[in-house]
Amino acid sequence: MRSSPSSASRHPLRELPDHLISQIAAGEVIERPASVVRELLDNALDAGASQITVRLLAGGVRLISVEDDGHGMPAEDLPVALKRHATSKIASLDDLESVTTMGFRGEALAAINAVSDCTLSSCCEGQPHGYQLSGQTGELRPVARARGTTVEIKELFLSTPARRKFLKTDATEFSHCLEAVRRHALCQPEVGFAIWHEGKLVQQWRPSTAESTIHPARQRRVADVLGQEFVDNSVSVALDAPSPAGSVGLARSIRVSGRAGLPDASRARNDQQFCYVNGRYVRDKVISHAARSAYEDVLHGHRHPSFVLYLEVDPSRVDVNVHPTKIEVRFRDSREVHQAVRHALEAALAAPRATTQPNLSDQAFVAASHSAAQASVSGAGEPHSGPNARLASARYQTRLPWAESGANAVAEPVPPWPARTPAAFDIAGVETGSGAQTPTPSEALEEWPLGQALAQLHGVYILAQNRRGLVIVDMHAAHERIVYERMKQQWAQSHTVPGAQVGQSAVQASASTSMARLPSQPLLIAHTFAASALEIATAQAHQATLQALGLDVSALTASSLVIRAIPSSLHQANPVELVRSVLADLSQHDASFVVERAHDDLLASMACHGAVRAHRALTIPEMNALLRQMEATERADQCNHGRPTWRQISTKELDTLFLRGR
Ligand code: ADP
Ligand code: MG
Repeated sequence: MRSSPSSASRHPLRELPDHLISQIAAGEVIERPASVVRELLDNALDAGASQITVRLLAGGVRLISVEDDGHGMPAEDLPVALKRHATSKIASLDDLESVTTMGFRGEALAAINAVSDCTLSSCCEGQPHGYQLSGQTGELRPVARARGTTVEIKELFLSTPARRKFLKTDATEFSHCLEAVRRHALCQPEVGFAIWHEGKLVQQWRPSTAESTIHPARQRRVADVLGQEFVDNSVSVALDAPSPAGSVGLARSIRVSGRAGLPDASRARNDQQFCYVNGRYVRDKVISHAARSAYEDVLHGHRHPSFVLYLEVDPSRVDVNVHPTKIEVRFRDSREVHQAVRHALEAALAAPRATTQPNLSDQAFVAASHSAAQASVSGAGEPHSGPNARLASARYQTRLPWAESGANAVAEPVPPWPARTPAAFDIAGVETGSGAQTPTPSEALEEWPLGQALAQLHGVYILAQNRRGLVIVDMHAAHERIVYERMKQQWAQSHTVPGAQVGQSAVQASASTSMARLPSQPLLIAHTFAASALEIATAQAHQATLQALGLDVSALTASSLVIRAIPSSLHQANPVELVRSVLADLSQHDASFVVERAHDDLLASMACHGAVRAHRALTIPEMNALLRQMEATERADQCNHGRPTWRQISTKELDTLFLRGR
């Protein structure tokens, strides 16, 4: 629809008055009181403040005052600071390429002054007094004050009533202001923050002075800002640049640290995801996507993980000048960032929490515990990757010869008959019960994170005792994860195993290296079963995929299939059920389906068949074997669907339950 010619009559072309330009420009930067708070906090931090106090009235609409003890401004700078494009932080285009300050566009104070009644007071080091400038009148007068700056904003949007109408209730605006302070506080542990509303102190975070390095200080600040509960239900993230030799393809110029929430502490909303790039809070699609994919394997459904991530990137490799409020950035190499974030989170989430600390102090268990209240800040859920976890699992492996590692499973030739009778329970043969490998109960209590098995409950749960109290394990869920992780490992390793064999042509060799393959084990007695036409057609169309999955399945007659081999890691599975479920999965795809793309899903559903069934009676040695395997398996704390596989109930909790000691 075009408007009628009369209403579209041409207006004279004119340059806008300066004040109107500022008001329009302010629209981009200042949306609500919280935007002002954010900009003023940025300025205070850029001025090197160690204590920042924010005072608000009516959610910041009537008054925002931000006071700092930074380096201040001399009297002659005060009027300049209010001008558009006036900044002390960059001087050239080159500077823009390596910005290390929060601000650099020189427009915040001008924008704020355009839509409010703004007063600046400031005093520099060594000056007898400071100066105060009224943004409205331009009047400059001396004031008594200590070093630092106070910016006071009264009646935001008074001159632009249209904007004011968009504001929500005072309580809502206040909550946004508080969030702005939280975001800054989370990243700046060496700065103290206090926030007052309507004359009352609402929050304060003290500066950490004791810690010599930033990491423990940040951990402490995270606990202060997000609460002990978050810390107790999260693990430490640490990816250092440069990455160790050997981890090819890994990002080299990026450091990632922070804390990653455990999958079972996930949330219905994504309201607890904080990402910082070089100290700046950002919202970034690359980082979010990387985080999402890191959690994919342990978090199902529509749950959102919580995390705090600090990225340190060479400033020349990130463009911070892409958004007026600088909440978005652009990375020169976003793939590198994606890899680094994903890798850091995956590593943090993968290591089994049960093997957190070799001395197995109580803190090692806190991460998986419901009762985290007593935990200390720094100890809970410390990084479980690194030497401690390796040392711990190596110890279990040498002591437990049956613990299979993926490496062995691929390297060793698979015998043409089942290693044990198909009915034998893979994780613990009878031989595992021999006294040499089973430690005495007290030794087990001392050394094993998941403790010593006591009994089986309703054929579903294993009950075990450790030093801290009672451990309850969902045996099917736990074993399913163990089998799945083993299969994934075998799958990945088969990629790297050279495919060239004697007599193979170069073409064949490269074809076989590009296709991963699960080690397969021929069945002693082939299984024949009546199959539907769809099952037979699927088996024929997906021969290559079935072989890659370690299955030898072919049509015997027009209405039956024969199974001659199954993956060696699933040797106790029911072959017919296994094949039926794989065929059902594959029938959703046409023959061009590439198993490489969906192998995780396929392996996960196959693992279910290889895992011990509920209601299967286990012996104590079998249960202990399962516990030891869990301790040595990555991601063993969550089943393939993201649910926890074990829980700790402390003796203290049991005492409370029975009102003991009251
Ligand atoms: P920017 O931060 O992008 O430089 P601003 O409009 O926010 O632009 O601030 C303009 C200038 O005013 C800053 O460059 C700085 O020199 C000075 N300034 C603002 N706030 C403070 C403060 N709290 N302490 C010291 N100087 C300040
Ligand atoms: Mg600024």
